[in-house]
Amino acid sequence: MTIRKGGCLCGQVKYFFHADKVDAVSCYCRDCQRATGSPLTTVVAVSADHLNVEGPTNTYSNKSASDRNVTRHFCPNCGSQLFTEAEMVPGVKFVKCSTLDHPSEAVTSANFWLSSAARWAPIDEKIACFDENPDG
Ligand SMILES: [Zn+2]
Repeated sequence: MTIRKGGCLCGQVKYFFHADKVDAVSCYCRDCQRATGSPLTTVVAVSADHLNVEGPTNTYSNKSASDRNVTRHFCPNCGSQLFTEAEMVPGVKFVKCSTLDHPSEAVTSANFWLSSAARWAPIDEKIACFDENPDG
């Protein structure tokens, strides 16, 4: 399996995981927009046991639309968002693909929460599109 590496803007937090493919999805929900300052965030699900993180992260938790906890990990020094944990999906960490050393390694298969996409947001309409989360 191929090693995939990434890290924050200042370099204080680095991570790696092994994956043959970086199967990603993009989320256009308001929480991801506010947390990242971007029109969407693209994430790959990595088994929590298999994500190796070097350097401490700070966290911020809030409730998702379905009233479950979502915890976002970010660099305490530069603030880069690195990965997220969702109570609804235990045992998984959602790594932000833009923090990969080679973001183009990610291949997206779906867009979530297009109901809250900004009018000016870029949207790949050739992949599966959902107004919210596909499974509610
Ligand atoms: Zn940093």
